[in-house]
Amino acid sequence: MRTGIGSDVHPIEPGRPCWMAGLSFEGESGCAGHSDGDVAAHALCDALLSAAGLGDVGAVFGTGRPEWEGVSGAAMLKEVRRLLDDAGFQIVNAAVQVIGNRPKIGPRRAEAQNTLGEILGAPISVSGTTTDGLGLTGRGEGVAAIASALLCCRS
Ligand code: MG
Repeated sequence: MRTGIGSDVHPIEPGRPCWMAGLSFEGESGCAGHSDGDVAAHALCDALLSAAGLGDVGAVFGTGRPEWEGVSGAAMLKEVRRLLDDAGFQIVNAAVQVIGNRPKIGPRRAEAQNTLGEILGAPISVSGTTTDGLGLTGRGEGVAAIASALLCCRS
């Protein structure tokens, strides 16, 4: 068994489509970034790569890899799953927490968990929290996410 951690923060860009935890949130402003700004997907990618000892999102999808520019969080998760598979790892489970005022995760938690679980082929827990008005997430300037993952080696 191997555990890993990951996190991500992006600024909110007013009017940009909002993608979070693999879902589109109509009417919400999304995050700016090299890809679709899905911080939950990015934190999960980081946690999975961390657990496998395969580096991080910056190394795998960073600005040095223009072919990944604008790509969806879902596509990044699929690629990470492929990398883990190639390296002989199986995902046991993973969890991600979205930290920010919006979008609200609770009402779409089941949908997010199903979507991410289907992409990764493992149970994925999705939760949300706020920072009580404090910091960049509390002021609505950005959204953060933190994730953990557990892998086992395929025998
Ligand atoms: Mg990111």
